[in-house]
Amino acid sequence: MKKYDFFKRDWTCPTDEQLLDTKLFYQNSVEIYAHYDQWKDIDRFYRIPLYLKMTYSCGWVAEIAPDPVRLGSFVRCTLEHPELFQYPCPECGKVVQPHRYVGSPLSGVVHLEGRCECGWHGFEEVSGWNLRATTLRDTISQDNTLRKRLRRKIKGETSTIAELLEWLKSSGE
Ligand SMILES: [Zn+2]
Repeated sequence: MKKYDFFKRDWTCPTDEQLLDTKLFYQNSVEIYAHYDQWKDIDRFYRIPLYLKMTYSCGWVAEIAPDPVRLGSFVRCTLEHPELFQYPCPECGKVVQPHRYVGSPLSGVVHLEGRCECGWHGFEEVSGWNLRATTLRDTISQDNTLRKRLRRKIKGETSTIAELLEWLKSSGE
Protein backbone atom coordinates (compact mmCIF):
# COMPACT_ATOMS: atom_id res chain seq x y z
CA MET A 1 0.00 0.00 0.00
CA LYS A 2 1.32 3.40 -0.89
CA LYS A 3 1.23 5.63 2.14
CA TYR A 4 -0.76 8.45 0.56
CA ASP A 5 -2.94 6.53 -1.83
CA PHE A 6 -6.33 7.67 -0.57
CA PHE A 7 -8.46 5.60 -2.94
CA LYS A 8 -10.08 2.69 -1.22
CA ARG A 9 -8.71 -0.62 -2.53
CA ASP A 10 -9.67 -3.23 -0.02
CA TRP A 11 -13.37 -4.02 0.01
CA THR A 12 -13.25 -6.79 2.62
CA CYS A 13 -16.17 -6.27 4.99
CA PRO A 14 -15.58 -6.42 8.73
CA THR A 15 -17.71 -8.94 10.62
CA ASP A 16 -20.53 -7.84 12.94
CA GLU A 17 -18.38 -8.90 15.85
CA GLN A 18 -15.51 -6.68 14.73
CA LEU A 19 -17.87 -3.71 14.26
CA LEU A 20 -19.39 -4.21 17.69
CA ASP A 21 -15.95 -4.26 19.28
CA THR A 22 -15.06 -1.00 17.51
CA LYS A 23 -18.32 0.47 18.85
CA LEU A 24 -17.07 -0.32 22.35
CA PHE A 25 -14.12 1.94 21.60
CA TYR A 26 -16.51 4.77 20.65
CA GLN A 27 -18.46 4.30 23.88
CA ASN A 28 -15.42 4.02 26.15
CA SER A 29 -12.93 6.28 24.41
CA VAL A 30 -12.60 8.63 27.42
CA GLU A 31 -11.40 5.77 29.62
CA ILE A 32 -9.18 4.24 26.94
CA TYR A 33 -7.42 7.57 26.26
CA ALA A 34 -7.05 8.24 29.98
CA HIS A 35 -5.25 4.92 30.55
CA TYR A 36 -3.04 5.00 27.46
CA ASP A 37 0.15 4.80 29.56
CA GLN A 38 -1.08 1.59 31.14
CA TRP A 39 -1.79 -0.35 27.95
CA LYS A 40 0.47 1.22 25.33
CA ASP A 41 3.42 -1.12 25.91
CA ILE A 42 1.32 -4.25 25.73
CA ASP A 43 1.50 -5.35 22.15
CA ARG A 44 -1.78 -7.26 21.98
CA PHE A 45 -3.67 -4.17 23.17
CA TYR A 46 -1.71 -1.70 21.05
CA ARG A 47 -2.59 -3.73 17.99
CA ILE A 48 -6.35 -4.08 18.60
CA PRO A 49 -7.95 -3.65 15.18
CA LEU A 50 -10.48 -0.86 14.76
CA TYR A 51 -12.94 -0.75 11.88
CA LEU A 52 -13.61 2.97 11.69
CA LYS A 53 -14.90 3.27 8.11
CA MET A 54 -13.38 6.72 7.70
CA THR A 55 -14.44 6.92 4.10
CA TYR A 56 -15.90 9.47 1.74
CA SER A 57 -17.76 8.40 -1.33
CA CYS A 58 -18.51 10.30 -4.50
CA GLY A 59 -18.63 7.64 -7.22
CA TRP A 60 -15.15 6.68 -6.02
CA VAL A 61 -14.28 6.14 -2.39
CA ALA A 62 -11.48 7.90 -0.53
CA GLU A 63 -10.44 6.95 2.96
CA ILE A 64 -8.48 8.71 5.68
CA ALA A 65 -6.78 5.40 6.48
CA PRO A 66 -7.66 1.83 5.50
CA ASP A 67 -9.21 -0.45 8.10
CA PRO A 68 -8.20 -1.97 10.36
CA VAL A 69 -6.48 0.93 12.09
CA ARG A 70 -4.57 -0.24 15.17
CA LEU A 71 -5.90 1.21 18.43
CA GLY A 72 -2.41 2.25 19.58
CA SER A 73 -1.58 4.06 16.36
CA PHE A 74 -4.91 5.89 16.37
CA VAL A 75 -4.68 7.00 20.00
CA ARG A 76 -0.99 7.92 19.77
CA CYS A 77 -1.75 10.08 16.72
CA THR A 78 -4.41 12.03 18.66
CA LEU A 79 -2.15 12.50 21.68
CA GLU A 80 0.90 13.59 19.69
CA HIS A 81 -1.01 16.07 17.52
CA PRO A 82 -3.41 17.86 19.85
CA GLU A 83 -3.64 20.86 17.51
CA LEU A 84 -5.08 18.63 14.78
CA PHE A 85 -7.30 16.24 16.69
CA GLN A 86 -8.30 17.60 20.10
CA TYR A 87 -10.85 20.31 20.84
CA PRO A 88 -12.68 21.80 23.82
CA CYS A 89 -16.02 20.29 24.79
CA PRO A 90 -18.86 22.69 23.91
CA GLU A 91 -20.60 21.78 27.19
CA CYS A 92 -17.87 21.97 29.81
CA GLY A 93 -14.67 23.09 28.07
CA LYS A 94 -12.61 19.98 28.88
CA VAL A 95 -10.48 18.43 26.15
CA VAL A 96 -12.24 16.01 23.79
CA GLN A 97 -10.21 13.32 22.04
CA PRO A 98 -11.92 11.85 18.98
CA HIS A 99 -12.74 8.20 18.41
CA ARG A 100 -13.26 8.61 14.66
CA TYR A 101 -13.10 11.26 11.97
CA VAL A 102 -14.68 11.45 8.60
CA GLY A 103 -14.98 14.13 6.00
CA SER A 104 -14.51 15.10 2.42
CA PRO A 105 -11.19 15.34 0.61
CA LEU A 106 -12.90 17.67 -1.87
CA SER A 107 -14.13 20.34 0.56
CA GLY A 108 -11.49 19.45 3.13
CA VAL A 109 -14.09 19.46 5.92
CA VAL A 110 -13.58 16.89 8.68
CA HIS A 111 -15.89 15.93 11.55
CA LEU A 112 -13.95 14.90 14.63
CA GLU A 113 -16.37 12.63 16.49
CA GLY A 114 -15.72 12.40 20.18
CA ARG A 115 -16.96 12.00 23.69
CA CYS A 116 -16.29 14.05 26.82
CA GLU A 117 -15.94 13.08 30.46
CA CYS A 118 -19.10 15.12 31.19
CA GLY A 119 -21.18 12.86 28.96
CA TRP A 120 -21.33 15.10 25.90
CA HIS A 121 -20.80 13.40 22.57
CA GLY A 122 -20.89 14.83 19.14
CA PHE A 123 -18.42 16.26 16.70
CA GLU A 124 -16.33 19.32 15.93
CA GLU A 125 -16.20 20.48 12.33
CA VAL A 126 -12.76 21.54 11.14
CA SER A 127 -10.96 21.93 7.83
CA GLY A 128 -7.85 20.04 6.74
CA TRP A 129 -8.82 16.56 5.56
CA ASN A 130 -5.52 16.01 3.82
CA LEU A 131 -3.34 17.08 6.74
CA ARG A 132 -5.20 14.80 9.16
CA ALA A 133 -5.15 11.86 6.76
CA THR A 134 -1.41 12.16 6.11
CA THR A 135 -0.66 12.64 9.82
CA LEU A 136 -2.55 9.47 10.78
CA ARG A 137 -0.93 7.53 7.93
CA ASP A 138 2.52 8.72 9.01
CA THR A 139 1.84 7.41 12.54
CA ILE A 140 0.64 4.05 11.20
CA SER A 141 3.65 3.78 8.94
CA GLN A 142 6.06 4.59 11.83
CA ASP A 143 4.49 1.79 13.86
CA ASN A 144 4.79 -0.66 10.96
CA THR A 145 8.43 0.25 10.42
CA LEU A 146 9.15 -0.17 14.11
CA ARG A 147 7.56 -3.61 14.10
CA LYS A 148 9.67 -4.64 11.15
CA ARG A 149 12.77 -3.39 12.91
CA LEU A 150 11.84 -5.41 15.97
CA ARG A 151 11.19 -8.36 13.61
CA ARG A 152 7.84 -8.94 15.17
CA LYS A 153 5.37 -10.85 13.11
CA ILE A 154 2.81 -8.49 11.61
CA LYS A 155 0.11 -11.06 12.17
CA GLY A 156 0.69 -11.75 15.83
CA GLU A 157 -1.91 -12.30 18.50
CA THR A 158 -4.24 -9.36 19.06
CA SER A 159 -6.79 -8.59 21.69
CA THR A 160 -10.18 -6.84 21.60
CA ILE A 161 -11.57 -3.63 23.10
CA ALA A 162 -13.81 -5.78 25.30
CA GLU A 163 -10.73 -7.54 26.74
CA LEU A 164 -8.89 -4.26 27.19
CA LEU A 165 -11.81 -2.78 29.17
CA GLU A 166 -11.98 -5.91 31.29
CA TRP A 167 -8.22 -5.69 31.91
CA LEU A 168 -8.42 -1.98 32.85
CA LYS A 169 -11.21 -2.73 35.28
CA SER A 170 -9.30 -5.52 37.00
CA SER A 171 -5.98 -3.62 37.12
CA GLY A 172 -7.71 -0.52 38.52
CA GLU A 173 -9.10 -2.34 41.53
ZN1 LIG B 1 -17.68 18.10 28.49
